[in-house]
Amino acid sequence: MNANTYDVVIVGAGIVGLATARALLERAPGLRLCVLEKGAGIAGQQTSHNSGVLHSGIYYRPGSLKSELCVRGRQALVDYCDQRGIPYDLCGKVIVATRPEELPRLEALNERATANGVRGHELIGPERVRELEPYVSALRALWVPSTGIVDFMRVAQAYTDDVISAGGEVRFGAGVEESWVTGGTRYVRAGDAEYAARLFVNCAGLHADRVARRLGADTRVQIVPFRGEYYTLRPQREQLVRGLIYPVPDPDLPFLGVHFTRNIKGYVEAGPNAVLATAREGYRKRDFELADVMEIARSPGFWRVARREWRTGINEVHRSLRKSVFVRDLQRLIPAIQADDLTGGGSGVRAQAVAPDGSLLDDFLIERSQAALHVLNAPSPGATSSLLIGERIAGMAGEMLELAT
Ligand SMILES: Cc1cc2nc3c(=O)[nH]c(=O)nc-3n(C[C@H](O)[C@H](O)[C@H](O)COP(=O)(O)OP(=O)(O)OC[C@H]3O[C@@H](n4cnc5c(N)ncnc54)[C@H](O)[C@@H]3O)c2cc1C
Repeated sequence: MNANTYDVVIVGAGIVGLATARALLERAPGLRLCVLEKGAGIAGQQTSHNSGVLHSGIYYRPGSLKSELCVRGRQALVDYCDQRGIPYDLCGKVIVATRPEELPRLEALNERATANGVRGHELIGPERVRELEPYVSALRALWVPSTGIVDFMRVAQAYTDDVISAGGEVRFGAGVEESWVTGGTRYVRAGDAEYAARLFVNCAGLHADRVARRLGADTRVQIVPFRGEYYTLRPQREQLVRGLIYPVPDPDLPFLGVHFTRNIKGYVEAGPNAVLATAREGYRKRDFELADVMEIARSPGFWRVARREWRTGINEVHRSLRKSVFVRDLQRLIPAIQADDLTGGGSGVRAQAVAPDGSLLDDFLIERSQAALHVLNAPSPGATSSLLIGERIAGMAGEMLELAT
């Protein structure tokens, strides 16, 4: 079989793979580039199952990739949406302290936001909170007006259009299954075809660690899937939420805690929680993939997390199985919320990288191997930061391919 030959092959047409493709073609017009996607369309995994929040960059450690790429990435994405006519709403968000012990953490978050270069945020008292969100009960809150909402699928579609109009290709039903090197050139088999490239860029999200190993990397990072489940607020009760209402996050966990999000399509969601999923694409509680579970069970990093976080894990499962527990957590933010106000919603699965020492990797992680780059951790705010992540990878790829800028 003759291989299709490219300069760059990107594995995965999620928002990160597509942003990388468009950034590479912008940097090097005429580059022979193809995106291989195992699904039947673009962005069928994390990108189409997320909360749709344009994060402002307040949470992340100053100096981290997340802080840098989120703050600038949010602005770049807002400008891009303006150019492309994609609707968004900078509705702002309140992060709500409801217990005295949360107040120092709220203040630390405010300082972190300043250190990260976020603009316009301020600590506010209960009266101002009520003006912004009349049904919220708070001791104090952090008001972040630069946070917004958008439909990331619209964004991913616009990136795809950019790739195609710049001469790139996107192929569906093309899951990368195996890879080998012949005569110094790397090949992959995807679907019923073979592809050769000077550089592969692995943006496979929930499968990124596996694809990395297939492409010859000896990474020790393991992707562990965490499902996030949502409820939807009944239309008659949507007036309870104007914008985005979040709790003060647990500083030891990379998840933000269940919150209220007004979606750009108009409805209000509550969630997501963070439950260990028993399949990488385990969108339903009953989804189970033996190979995925065995892989997690064999990973020493996972057992280290499990030993440390077992209490949190049990609480998350409890909250997932019992709506009353989910509602109780939401009532800390909006006391008037009742179980009947919430109907079943969707879910998303986060690709959370775990290091061999059992730490849940917090920052974005991009690793190099021979003729390949691997995005091994791109959780939230990956969608917000996508334009900047794409540019960064394009820069790294440019060095590896020695492209003129
Ligand atoms: C519940 C949830 C809520 C979130 N909320 C937000 C938010 O509000 N704001 C925000 O900024 N971020 C949010 N995120 C994070 C954001 O969605 C991700 O950072 C982003 O979507 C990652 O994009 P990606 O392209 O890396 O991964 P994905 O979107 O998962 O794309 C990976 C692609 O690779 C393909 N693929 C996998 N294996 C192969 C293979 N072998 N061959 C070919 N293709 C393959 C998959 O089919 C998929 O299309 C959230 C995520 C989740 C799960």
